[in-house]
Amino acid sequence: MLSFDIRSLEHHGVAVDAGLSPDDSIWQEEDPRPSGPLHVTGRLSTAGAGRYYWHGRIEGDVVMPCRRCLTDAAAHVTAEEHMIFVDADDEEADNPDVFPLDPRADEIDLRPAVREQWLLAVPGFVLCAEDCKGLCPTCGIDLNAGECGCPARVSADSRWDALRALTNVEGADEPVQQVKQKRRSGGKSR
Ligand SMILES: [Zn+2]
Ligand SMILES: [Zn+2]
Repeated sequence: MLSFDIRSLEHHGVAVDAGLSPDDSIWQEEDPRPSGPLHVTGRLSTAGAGRYYWHGRIEGDVVMPCRRCLTDAAAHVTAEEHMIFVDADDEEADNPDVFPLDPRADEIDLRPAVREQWLLAVPGFVLCAEDCKGLCPTCGIDLNAGECGCPARVSADSRWDALRALTNVEGADEPVQQVKQKRRSGGKSR
């Protein structure tokens, strides 16, 4: 359970130690969800009238396609943060760093804060292994499983050479003149 009775917080804080299921209704469709229950710990306490403070930690795993070979790869995610919850009519409720609470609510639901923390902590990409060889750009075979018969890959540099040759042919003299003009006017302005 990640909901806490506000009355129970009035005089002392409460320990937070709960799991947030990957099937919980708090997750949005496009969220990268944890592969198992997200472990949420910490302490929730009052920070003055209508204000609550959670110093907490989340820990879980995410499974995403490897950036290079697209097979499923897991990453361990942890984050530790301080969060402040205030009544929605508090002047600070507009601050993006605080979570507004319905002033009539008798419970604090930590799930939106946990979800936000998780989304910030999940890596933008994962690799199945640091030395993952990726997919062959020609035939698409997973090169971790073995070499394919494709000719040696063209390096990025020589591909740029081909592009440069093409642009040089098309507008041979123009770029040079533009550079000269810029130099002249640039000298005056200083
Ligand atoms: Zn990989
Ligand atoms: Zn290949």
